[in-house]
Amino acid sequence: MTASSAPFRILLYYKFVRVHDHEALAREHLAFCKKLGIKGRILIAPEGINGTLSGTIEQTDAYMAMMRQMPLFKDMVYKIDESQDHAFKKLFVRPKKELVTFRLEEDVDPNQLTGTHLKPKEWHEMLQRDDVIVLDGRNYYEYDIGHFRGAIRPEVETTREFPEWIRTNMADFKDRPILTYCTGGIRCEKLSGFLINEGFKDVYQLDGGIVTYGKDDEVKGRLFDGKCYVFDERISVPINRTEEDVIVGKCYHCGKPEDRYINCANDLCHLKHICCEACEEEHNSFCSAECEEKALSAMEA
Ligand SMILES: [Zn+2]
Ligand SMILES: [Zn+2]
Repeated sequence: MTASSAPFRILLYYKFVRVHDHEALAREHLAFCKKLGIKGRILIAPEGINGTLSGTIEQTDAYMAMMRQMPLFKDMVYKIDESQDHAFKKLFVRPKKELVTFRLEEDVDPNQLTGTHLKPKEWHEMLQRDDVIVLDGRNYYEYDIGHFRGAIRPEVETTREFPEWIRTNMADFKDRPILTYCTGGIRCEKLSGFLINEGFKDVYQLDGGIVTYGKDDEVKGRLFDGKCYVFDERISVPINRTEEDVIVGKCYHCGKPEDRYINCANDLCHLKHICCEACEEEHNSFCSAECEEKALSAMEA
């Protein structure tokens, strides 16, 4: 890779660590981030921090320098993307009860219990074994525009639906090696711990998630098909840097290969659906004729 002149950066990071007064820390953090001029979404909970933000090179350098001064966060690992612009419109720094919401009867502390971390190269090798079960640790709409080849598609819309879905659909696999992955790794820290609690004996997680895998210069994103959904204005980022790069999503209306998401223009629906540009124009950004009719009659009322 050559040195780039991109003026902005996007940072993605998390750390599970005990935070004493997470509400006070969120207030201080908000003030600091405002002063810096960065944008993005940062969650601070008693169990740690999870952030994704954008800013200029100087702003993001200053942010990371400040975090290195804090004993709690001095060893934070950042995934860094270059960008031509901010990836967020606003700044949110929110205190939360937990970073990842599984709604478990018994919460999992990843510092006590979590699956074995695999580096990209180890993950790539393990993926090719024929006894492994690969479970996507994200929601179905993330899976639908890109995922590891052969991965199971979880039919969940939010992380809190995972425990029940796993109990219903994965019970037969408790003796098989399970590989879990997500965007940046945070969800699998908990998901893999949950799986171990449920009696799965051999559980692994992709260290640093899909985005780290995509940056590895040896594996070059191999065996990841399609794009990686991200929760910022880019919507998705490329991962596979080989000739295997493919589109795995399909337009909701016409079925053509496509990986762009839009939300239904009916405010009461807002269905997130994959839609090609031609169909977006033809259907006026609505997911269905019903939604288009409802929105029109609402306008006339
Ligand atoms: Zn279409
Ligand atoms: Zn709709």
